[in-house]
Amino acid sequence: MSDAAPGPRTAVVTGAASGIGAATLARFRAAGWTAWGLDLATPDGDDADPCFATVDVTDRPALEAAFGRAAEATGRLEAVVACAGINRDGVLWKLSEEDWRQVLAVNLDGSFHAIAAALPHQRPHGRGAIVLVTSINGERGEFGQKNYAASKAGVIGLTKSAAREVGRFGIRVNAVSPGYIDTPMTRPLPTEIVDEATRASLLGRIGEPDEVAAAITWLCSDDASYVTGQVLRVDGGQHL
Ligand code: NAD
Repeated sequence: MSDAAPGPRTAVVTGAASGIGAATLARFRAAGWTAWGLDLATPDGDDADPCFATVDVTDRPALEAAFGRAAEATGRLEAVVACAGINRDGVLWKLSEEDWRQVLAVNLDGSFHAIAAALPHQRPHGRGAIVLVTSINGERGEFGQKNYAASKAGVIGLTKSAAREVGRFGIRVNAVSPGYIDTPMTRPLPTEIVDEATRASLLGRIGEPDEVAAAITWLCSDDASYVTGQVLRVDGGQHL
Protein backbone atom coordinates (compact mmCIF):
# COMPACT_ATOMS: atom_id res chain seq x y z
CA MET A 1 0.00 0.00 0.00
CA SER A 2 1.33 3.44 -0.84
CA ASP A 3 -0.56 5.34 1.86
CA ALA A 4 1.47 4.12 4.85
CA ALA A 5 1.86 6.83 7.48
CA PRO A 6 5.31 8.44 7.70
CA GLY A 7 7.41 7.72 10.80
CA PRO A 8 7.40 4.69 13.04
CA ARG A 9 4.49 2.29 12.70
CA THR A 10 2.75 1.27 15.90
CA ALA A 11 1.52 -2.16 16.92
CA VAL A 12 0.04 -3.68 20.06
CA VAL A 13 0.37 -7.35 20.93
CA THR A 14 -1.57 -8.96 23.79
CA GLY A 15 -0.15 -12.05 25.47
CA ALA A 16 3.27 -10.65 24.61
CA ALA A 17 5.20 -11.94 27.62
CA SER A 18 5.50 -15.46 26.31
CA GLY A 19 5.41 -17.87 23.38
CA ILE A 20 3.82 -16.72 20.13
CA GLY A 21 3.02 -13.22 21.45
CA ALA A 22 6.61 -12.62 22.57
CA ALA A 23 7.92 -13.80 19.19
CA THR A 24 5.46 -11.49 17.41
CA LEU A 25 6.51 -8.50 19.53
CA ALA A 26 10.16 -9.25 18.75
CA ARG A 27 9.45 -9.46 15.00
CA PHE A 28 7.64 -6.11 14.93
CA ARG A 29 10.49 -4.47 16.81
CA ALA A 30 13.13 -6.03 14.59
CA ALA A 31 11.27 -4.52 11.60
CA GLY A 32 11.44 -1.05 13.18
CA TRP A 33 7.88 -0.80 14.47
CA THR A 34 7.05 0.78 17.82
CA ALA A 35 5.46 -2.31 19.29
CA TRP A 36 3.71 -2.43 22.65
CA GLY A 37 3.40 -5.63 24.61
CA LEU A 38 0.48 -6.23 26.97
CA ASP A 39 0.14 -9.20 29.29
CA LEU A 40 -0.89 -10.31 32.76
CA ALA A 41 2.73 -11.29 33.29
CA THR A 42 5.94 -9.34 32.67
CA PRO A 43 8.43 -10.61 30.10
CA ASP A 44 11.25 -12.78 31.41
CA GLY A 45 14.28 -10.76 32.45
CA ASP A 46 12.92 -7.45 31.12
CA ASP A 47 10.53 -5.80 33.52
CA ALA A 48 11.92 -2.35 32.60
CA ASP A 49 10.61 -2.38 29.01
CA PRO A 50 8.94 1.06 28.61
CA CYS A 51 6.61 -0.30 25.93
CA PHE A 52 5.24 -3.12 28.03
CA ALA A 53 2.19 -2.91 30.31
CA THR A 54 0.45 -5.31 32.64
CA VAL A 55 -3.18 -5.70 31.56
CA ASP A 56 -5.85 -8.36 31.85
CA VAL A 57 -7.58 -8.76 28.47
CA THR A 58 -10.83 -9.71 30.19
CA ASP A 59 -10.96 -6.16 31.60
CA ARG A 60 -12.21 -4.11 28.65
CA PRO A 61 -11.78 -0.62 30.17
CA ALA A 62 -8.21 -1.48 31.21
CA LEU A 63 -7.41 -2.80 27.74
CA GLU A 64 -8.89 0.31 26.10
CA ALA A 65 -6.79 2.53 28.36
CA ALA A 66 -3.64 0.57 27.49
CA PHE A 67 -4.37 0.83 23.75
CA GLY A 68 -4.88 4.58 24.24
CA ARG A 69 -1.46 4.91 25.86
CA ALA A 70 0.14 2.88 23.08
CA ALA A 71 -1.44 5.15 20.45
CA GLU A 72 -0.46 8.38 22.22
CA ALA A 73 2.79 9.01 20.34
CA THR A 74 1.47 8.59 16.80
CA GLY A 75 -2.31 8.86 17.32
CA ARG A 76 -2.81 5.54 15.62
CA LEU A 77 -2.38 1.80 15.98
CA GLU A 78 -1.66 0.27 12.60
CA ALA A 79 -1.59 -3.31 13.84
CA VAL A 80 -3.30 -5.09 16.72
CA VAL A 81 -2.57 -8.73 17.52
CA ALA A 82 -4.59 -10.64 20.14
CA CYS A 83 -2.38 -13.51 21.31
CA ALA A 84 -3.40 -13.76 24.98
CA GLY A 85 -4.83 -17.19 25.61
CA ILE A 86 -5.16 -19.98 28.15
CA ASN A 87 -6.20 -23.62 28.28
CA ARG A 88 -7.90 -25.45 31.16
CA ASP A 89 -8.43 -28.93 29.75
CA GLY A 90 -10.81 -31.53 31.15
CA VAL A 91 -13.23 -34.15 29.92
CA LEU A 92 -16.90 -33.12 29.86
CA TRP A 93 -17.84 -34.84 33.12
CA LYS A 94 -14.99 -33.16 34.99
CA LEU A 95 -14.96 -29.68 33.42
CA SER A 96 -15.91 -27.11 36.02
CA GLU A 97 -18.11 -24.12 35.31
CA GLU A 98 -15.19 -21.88 36.29
CA ASP A 99 -12.79 -23.50 33.81
CA TRP A 100 -15.40 -23.22 31.08
CA ARG A 101 -16.02 -19.53 31.75
CA GLN A 102 -12.41 -18.49 32.31
CA VAL A 103 -11.20 -19.93 28.99
CA LEU A 104 -14.07 -18.27 27.11
CA ALA A 105 -13.38 -15.01 28.95
CA VAL A 106 -9.69 -14.82 28.06
CA ASN A 107 -9.68 -16.37 24.58
CA LEU A 108 -12.95 -15.08 23.14
CA ASP A 109 -13.96 -12.04 25.20
CA GLY A 110 -10.30 -10.93 25.21
CA SER A 111 -10.21 -11.07 21.39
CA PHE A 112 -13.46 -9.12 21.14
CA HIS A 113 -12.10 -6.50 23.56
CA ALA A 114 -8.96 -6.14 21.44
CA ILE A 115 -10.98 -5.51 18.27
CA ALA A 116 -13.21 -3.03 20.06
CA ALA A 117 -10.22 -1.22 21.59
CA ALA A 118 -8.42 -1.09 18.21
CA LEU A 119 -11.22 0.52 16.26
CA PRO A 120 -11.00 4.12 17.57
CA HIS A 121 -7.28 4.14 16.68
CA GLN A 122 -7.71 2.70 13.18
CA ARG A 123 -11.05 3.85 11.78
CA PRO A 124 -10.24 7.59 11.63
CA HIS A 125 -7.13 6.80 9.55
CA GLY A 126 -8.93 4.58 7.06
CA ARG A 127 -6.56 1.67 7.55
CA GLY A 128 -5.43 -0.91 10.04
CA ALA A 129 -4.77 -4.61 10.54
CA ILE A 130 -6.06 -6.88 13.28
CA VAL A 131 -4.92 -10.47 13.74
CA LEU A 132 -6.61 -12.88 16.14
CA VAL A 133 -5.27 -16.29 17.13
CA THR A 134 -7.48 -19.33 16.80
CA SER A 135 -6.25 -22.96 16.74
CA ILE A 136 -6.66 -26.05 14.58
CA ASN A 137 -8.50 -27.47 17.61
CA GLY A 138 -11.08 -24.71 17.20
CA GLU A 139 -11.63 -25.99 13.67
CA ARG A 140 -11.73 -29.73 14.36
CA GLY A 141 -12.49 -30.03 18.11
CA GLU A 142 -10.25 -31.98 20.46
CA PHE A 143 -10.72 -34.50 23.24
CA GLY A 144 -10.71 -32.71 26.62
CA GLN A 145 -10.82 -29.23 25.05
CA LYS A 146 -14.49 -28.22 24.77
CA ASN A 147 -13.89 -24.85 26.41
CA TYR A 148 -10.70 -24.16 24.43
CA ALA A 149 -12.11 -25.42 21.11
CA ALA A 150 -15.37 -23.50 21.59
CA SER A 151 -13.45 -20.31 22.36
CA LYS A 152 -11.24 -20.75 19.29
CA ALA A 153 -14.21 -21.59 17.04
CA GLY A 154 -15.75 -18.38 18.36
CA VAL A 155 -12.60 -16.49 17.37
CA ILE A 156 -13.11 -17.65 13.77
CA GLY A 157 -16.70 -16.34 13.73
CA LEU A 158 -15.52 -13.12 15.32
CA THR A 159 -12.75 -12.68 12.72
CA LYS A 160 -15.02 -13.19 9.73
CA SER A 161 -17.89 -11.08 11.09
CA ALA A 162 -15.63 -8.20 12.10
CA ALA A 163 -13.87 -8.32 8.72
CA ARG A 164 -17.25 -7.89 7.02
CA GLU A 165 -18.06 -4.87 9.17
CA VAL A 166 -14.80 -2.93 9.12
CA GLY A 167 -13.49 -3.59 5.62
CA ARG A 168 -15.27 -0.43 4.46
CA PHE A 169 -13.01 1.53 6.86
CA GLY A 170 -9.85 0.06 5.33
CA ILE A 171 -9.36 -2.26 8.30
CA ARG A 172 -8.41 -5.89 7.66
CA VAL A 173 -9.21 -8.64 10.18
CA ASN A 174 -7.61 -12.07 9.89
CA ALA A 175 -6.75 -15.01 12.13
CA VAL A 176 -3.90 -17.48 12.29
CA SER A 177 -4.70 -21.06 13.21
CA PRO A 178 -1.60 -22.70 14.68
CA GLY A 179 -1.15 -26.41 15.13
CA TYR A 180 0.94 -27.73 18.01
CA ILE A 181 3.65 -25.12 18.74
CA ASP A 182 6.42 -25.46 21.32
CA THR A 183 5.54 -22.81 23.95
CA PRO A 184 5.02 -22.63 27.73
CA MET A 185 1.34 -23.41 27.07
CA THR A 186 2.07 -26.78 25.47
CA ARG A 187 5.23 -27.84 27.31
CA PRO A 188 3.36 -29.31 30.32
CA LEU A 189 1.25 -31.55 28.02
CA PRO A 190 1.97 -35.32 28.01
CA THR A 191 4.64 -36.51 25.57
CA GLU A 192 2.06 -38.67 23.74
CA ILE A 193 0.37 -35.48 22.56
CA VAL A 194 3.64 -34.07 21.22
CA ASP A 195 4.36 -37.39 19.51
CA GLU A 196 0.91 -37.44 17.94
CA ALA A 197 1.32 -33.87 16.62
CA THR A 198 4.78 -34.71 15.30
CA ARG A 199 3.38 -37.73 13.45
CA ALA A 200 0.48 -35.68 12.07
CA SER A 201 2.76 -32.93 10.77
CA LEU A 202 3.72 -33.36 7.13
CA LEU A 203 7.08 -31.85 8.10
CA GLY A 204 7.68 -34.40 10.88
CA ARG A 205 8.07 -31.86 13.66
CA ILE A 206 6.08 -29.47 15.85
CA GLY A 207 6.21 -25.72 15.19
CA GLU A 208 8.22 -22.88 16.72
CA PRO A 209 6.63 -19.64 18.02
CA ASP A 210 8.56 -17.54 15.51
CA GLU A 211 7.05 -19.49 12.61
CA VAL A 212 3.59 -18.34 13.74
CA ALA A 213 4.87 -14.82 14.44
CA ALA A 214 6.14 -14.64 10.84
CA ALA A 215 2.62 -15.34 9.53
CA ILE A 216 1.08 -12.84 11.94
CA THR A 217 3.42 -10.00 11.01
CA TRP A 218 2.94 -10.80 7.31
CA LEU A 219 -0.83 -10.47 7.77
CA CYS A 220 -0.21 -7.08 9.40
CA SER A 221 2.11 -5.92 6.64
CA ASP A 222 1.37 -4.02 3.46
CA ASP A 223 2.20 -7.21 1.54
CA ALA A 224 -1.14 -8.58 2.79
CA SER A 225 -3.07 -5.44 1.80
CA TYR A 226 -5.79 -7.41 -0.04
CA VAL A 227 -6.14 -10.20 2.53
CA THR A 228 -9.03 -10.03 4.99
CA GLY A 229 -11.53 -12.34 6.66
CA GLN A 230 -9.10 -15.25 6.36
CA VAL A 231 -7.99 -18.00 8.72
CA LEU A 232 -4.39 -18.90 7.90
CA ARG A 233 -3.28 -22.29 9.21
CA VAL A 234 0.28 -22.43 10.47
CA ASP A 235 0.46 -26.08 11.42
CA GLY A 236 2.94 -27.92 9.23
CA GLY A 237 -0.07 -29.69 7.71
CA GLN A 238 -1.18 -31.20 11.06
CA HIS A 239 -4.82 -30.56 10.10
CA LEU A 240 -5.53 -31.05 6.41
P1 NAD B 1 1.79 -18.89 26.22
O1 NAD B 1 1.19 -19.45 27.45
O2 NAD B 1 3.24 -19.02 26.00
O3 NAD B 1 1.38 -17.34 26.06
C1 NAD B 1 0.11 -16.87 26.37
C2 NAD B 1 0.26 -15.53 27.07
O4 NAD B 1 -1.05 -15.01 27.33
C3 NAD B 1 1.00 -15.62 28.42
O5 NAD B 1 2.07 -14.70 28.45
C4 NAD B 1 -0.07 -15.26 29.43
O6 NAD B 1 0.42 -14.57 30.58
C5 NAD B 1 -0.99 -14.37 28.59
N1 NAD B 1 -2.31 -14.27 29.20
C6 NAD B 1 -3.08 -15.27 29.70
N2 NAD B 1 -4.21 -14.75 30.22
C7 NAD B 1 -4.16 -13.41 30.03
C8 NAD B 1 -5.03 -12.35 30.35
N3 NAD B 1 -6.20 -12.56 30.98
N4 NAD B 1 -4.67 -11.08 30.02
C9 NAD B 1 -3.48 -10.86 29.41
N5 NAD B 1 -2.60 -11.83 29.09
C10 NAD B 1 -2.95 -13.09 29.39
O7 NAD B 1 0.99 -19.60 25.02
P2 NAD B 1 1.17 -19.56 23.44
O8 NAD B 1 1.25 -20.97 23.02
O9 NAD B 1 2.20 -18.59 23.00
O10 NAD B 1 -0.28 -19.04 23.04
C11 NAD B 1 -0.50 -17.82 22.33
C12 NAD B 1 -1.82 -17.96 21.61
O11 NAD B 1 -1.70 -18.99 20.63
C13 NAD B 1 -2.98 -18.38 22.52
O12 NAD B 1 -4.15 -17.70 22.13
C14 NAD B 1 -3.10 -19.87 22.24
O13 NAD B 1 -4.41 -20.35 22.50
C15 NAD B 1 -2.76 -19.90 20.77
N6 NAD B 1 -2.36 -21.20 20.26
C16 NAD B 1 -1.28 -21.84 20.75
C17 NAD B 1 -0.92 -23.07 20.24
C18 NAD B 1 0.26 -23.84 20.72
O14 NAD B 1 0.43 -25.02 20.32
N7 NAD B 1 1.13 -23.28 21.55
C19 NAD B 1 -1.69 -23.65 19.21
C20 NAD B 1 -2.79 -22.98 18.75
C21 NAD B 1 -3.12 -21.74 19.27
